[in-house]
Amino acid sequence: MPGGVTTDVKTYSMLIDGEWMASKSGRTFPVYDPSTEEVIAQVPDANTDDVNRAVAAAKAAFEEGPWATTTAQERGRVLFRLAEKIRQNLPMLAEIECRNSGKPIVEAEFDINDVATCFEYYGGLATKVVGYVNPVPDNAMSLSLKEPVGVAGQIIPWNYPLLMAAWKLAPALAAGCTCVLKPAEQTPLTALEMAKWFEEVGMPKGVVNVITGFGESCGSPLVKHPDVNKIAFTGSAAVGKIIVKEAADTVKRVTLELGGKSPNIFFADADFEAAIDGALFGVFINQGEICSAGSRILVEKSIYGKFVDAMAEKAKKIKIGPPLERETKMGALVSKEQYDRVCSYIEIGKKEAKVASGGGRADKFTSGYYVQPTIFYNVSNNARIAREEIFGPVAAVIPFEDEKDALKIANDSPYGLAAAVWTRDIFKAMRTVKALRTGIVWVNHMQPTYVEAPWGGYKQSGFGRELGPWGIEEYLETKQVYINLNEAPIGWY
Ligand code: NAP
Ligand code: MG
Repeated sequence: MPGGVTTDVKTYSMLIDGEWMASKSGRTFPVYDPSTEEVIAQVPDANTDDVNRAVAAAKAAFEEGPWATTTAQERGRVLFRLAEKIRQNLPMLAEIECRNSGKPIVEAEFDINDVATCFEYYGGLATKVVGYVNPVPDNAMSLSLKEPVGVAGQIIPWNYPLLMAAWKLAPALAAGCTCVLKPAEQTPLTALEMAKWFEEVGMPKGVVNVITGFGESCGSPLVKHPDVNKIAFTGSAAVGKIIVKEAADTVKRVTLELGGKSPNIFFADADFEAAIDGALFGVFINQGEICSAGSRILVEKSIYGKFVDAMAEKAKKIKIGPPLERETKMGALVSKEQYDRVCSYIEIGKKEAKVASGGGRADKFTSGYYVQPTIFYNVSNNARIAREEIFGPVAAVIPFEDEKDALKIANDSPYGLAAAVWTRDIFKAMRTVKALRTGIVWVNHMQPTYVEAPWGGYKQSGFGRELGPWGIEEYLETKQVYINLNEAPIGWY
């Protein structure tokens, strides 16, 4: 019963060891359409028993199964075939992603296209993993070999559901690892849909297991499991800290992508129209539910008033609407919990700063978690809305005096995922790029992300890098091999 339908509301199974199954407890939990608040599916509520089954399957597939001994060429072909399936089914996947996450359909289509591109990229990279001959000063040969790290546990968030799955699975599979993937409780559907094709594209059973469940009862046992060799996590800093502690007992490799409070810096000499557009795009794309959101908008004092007015005016015209409508630029937030969280930050912001636009629920809707694009101005960098990740359509516009002041404010954050700088002065741009303590810096743009280029944070935004050759490196061990070329005894004793 691959991802089988049993009632009007789809009841999904999960994939363990190539079998579609319910959770051992038989329990399920509901999955919602956040734009209507309706239940659209039921999925298995996996707990420790199911995690143990999934990890055992991944371990067997790694140690006894054909995966670790497949050639890189064959693994690459599997990834290409999966990418092809995703492209053929792009409208179906985009629609499910859109309904389940609340994001606009046009953005969901971009996401699914990026999913296929990610599998294609790593399908190609599988055959480019090479070792070295180390130039040791003896009659010996020393080699460095690259080998898969083993079983990877992968825990992902709800903001880019299938794309985050691809960022985790594609490099792991290219490296020869086997995987246990836990999607976010809110958005498990597209990962389950994709898993229907694993067998058909030639992935042996147990290579990728997809288990649906909650953080504490499903994610945590995966992190603690002694047979899981690596955890890759994207999500909140709070959960990232728990994961590092829980992974310590078994000395797992861990990579973390934990979001941020990214500065988007506007100097007075920037192209004004492009700047306003870039400020809005940087923070409101995907309803602001984006780890690299330019949620601190730093604006040079000489243009501050004009900038806030122009931003607010344009923000009021952003089309909020049902996610499936093609004109919609901003859909619903992912869940009631996230909606309440964002609204509570907006109330905090009203006490800390002034509202330029938005400020609460988009009340033309009677149901659904719609929030207006909200802009606060006269914000201090010490305000909570300037320090804490809100993960919604809320911007804090902060004035600065000069370049030195801008950099001081920009770097004054516990986070360091991303930043952007807008200026027509190349010298100023490059000084800023060098001074920013973030893993990604955009110049005169914000948010373009490519599978060919590295992604990850400084400071409390996490460690490790995804995408590009950096992404596969995180799933590889390095083995040193020494080959003695002297036939005589060592001759020491
Ligand atoms: P989260 O709680 O960090 O969840 C991310 C993933 O970790 C989910 O799959 C979650 O499972 C799992 N998880 C939760 N607790 C765990 C534990 N103790 N051990 C192992 N796994 C665990 O994030 P969220 O609840 O979705 O959102 C909360 C906040 O996180 C957001 O408001 C935002 O600030 C931040 N966030 C950041 C990113 C990013 O890209 N950096 C993405 C999403 C959210 P469940 O399914 O049970 O939640
Ligand atoms: Mg959660």
